[in-house]
Amino acid sequence: MSQEIEHVQCLIIGSGPAGYTAAIYAARADLKPVMYTGMEPGGQLTQTTEVDNFPGYPSGITGPEMMEDLRKQAERFGTDIRFGYVSEVDFLSVPRKVIVDDIKTITADTVIISTGATAKWLGLPSEQKYNGFGVSACAVCDGFFFKGQDVAIVGAGDTAAEEATYLAKLCRKVYMLVRRDEFRASKAMVHRVMNTPNIEVIYNTETQEIIGNGKNVTAVRVLNNQTNEESDIPVEGFFVAIGHKPNTDIFKGWLDMDETGYLKTIPGSTKTNVEGVFAAGDVQDHYYRQAVTAAGSGCMAALDAERYLAAKEDEVKMVS
Ligand code: NDP
Repeated sequence: MSQEIEHVQCLIIGSGPAGYTAAIYAARADLKPVMYTGMEPGGQLTQTTEVDNFPGYPSGITGPEMMEDLRKQAERFGTDIRFGYVSEVDFLSVPRKVIVDDIKTITADTVIISTGATAKWLGLPSEQKYNGFGVSACAVCDGFFFKGQDVAIVGAGDTAAEEATYLAKLCRKVYMLVRRDEFRASKAMVHRVMNTPNIEVIYNTETQEIIGNGKNVTAVRVLNNQTNEESDIPVEGFFVAIGHKPNTDIFKGWLDMDETGYLKTIPGSTKTNVEGVFAAGDVQDHYYRQAVTAAGSGCMAALDAERYLAAKEDEVKMVS
């Protein structure tokens, strides 16, 4: 299987804000981090347009530009950033073992996992076509661009309910498209939605198509799955909030996860159930899911890794 073995002190898997921030801190602590970017260097933010809520950018910045800045900053302190995909791990072995692109074996004293999560999409071609031009999977990121306008949001879980109420504060009207005749969200969240006058919940409704003028979204075509009636709702924005999938498939069986696949960390830290393996960013956070919170936990992971290595070194000195 493996042709080549390389040993590193600190291996970072994934290259979103969590991974790059971990890299900046780990490099400055002289852990000589090696990062594997995954197939989408920069992560979810490379799919967004303007980022206006990351502190330090008073005029905003595009997602791809911000990730480029983070990459350069991580490189400036000596992070070895490599394009590659971690295809397998062995967290029983000491040091921890990771296989990259099915061929290269890396052993690592510490591993920081920042593989993120992927927003689920409906899978319509028109949704892809207008992604970034009226279609978004993040109300907190993009809601601002629809101030005073009409938008629709699809989904009926806690995220959709929360994002609908967030959008309702900015937008004139929010149509909430629920595919069944009931919500999945908690009672408290449903209560909040029901008590927001400018949210209109439309039950038994499936999205057929996002309609646009070639540049921007102008409406959403929906189907009532009880009556089979089709209709168009004029909207400028269309938000998808049907859940996220954490990118944790390769860690199944090695690391503790919740029932939806998010990695579990020891509260107040980034420690997983495996010594020397840390998790940061959306891969362990289904709740906040912001670039800035991911970056914060990336910093925590690097500090946790550094302290873990220092404690190990102390142990060795005590024994000898
Ligand atoms: P969920 O999986 O809970 O909900 C997804 C929703 O999207 C469901 O209502 C589902 O419908 C709907 N959906 C899925 N596919 C489609 C589709 N193709 N067309 C239309 N609708 C679709 O995801 P969430 O992101 O909402 O929540 C994930 C987890 O995070 C949950 O455990 C949640 O409780 C938690 N969370 C908690 C928050 C809080 O406490 N404040 C805030 C946000 C999330 P259906 O119901 O018919 O299956």
